[in-house]
Amino acid sequence: MSQHDFTSRTIEFEALLKEFKILLKKNGEKFTIQREIILETLYNSDEHLTPEALHQLIQQKHPDLKTGIATIYRTLSRLEESDIVTSLSFGAQGKKYELGAKDHHDHMICIDCGEITEFVDDEIEKRQELIAKEFGFKIKDHSMQLYGLCKNCQE
Ligand SMILES: [Zn+2]
Ligand SMILES: [Zn+2]
Repeated sequence: MSQHDFTSRTIEFEALLKEFKILLKKNGEKFTIQREIILETLYNSDEHLTPEALHQLIQQKHPDLKTGIATIYRTLSRLEESDIVTSLSFGAQGKKYELGAKDHHDHMICIDCGEITEFVDDEIEKRQELIAKEFGFKIKDHSMQLYGLCKNCQE
């Protein structure tokens, strides 16, 4: 398994914000400072965040800003529709979100505590390309989630 810098962003925040504004306009929704903060917080986070964790982060950093959990849910699903963010579900407990523009990586997800570990394996990436080629298939994107128990939850 190779070490990758998952924190490097392939897109500038300004470009992302512009895309988000266009998306909101198309859907007849208002652009607000709360929504910008939601996007910014996701952009600057290296974690996979539940809506509740995101809410908490925003409240800590911007205590004066009234950002309801409903706004967070609504904004996240908007962002997800356009692939600005992607989500991972961890069983019945819910979903965690991350920025879609992060460098490609796959996930190991603990179905007990929800811990998420990112990894990239060059062999797996290469094998996928070869398999697709065998079938005359052109890969545009892929996601791989391994579900199981993390070290702590196995004890
Ligand atoms: Zn766990
Ligand atoms: Zn991830």
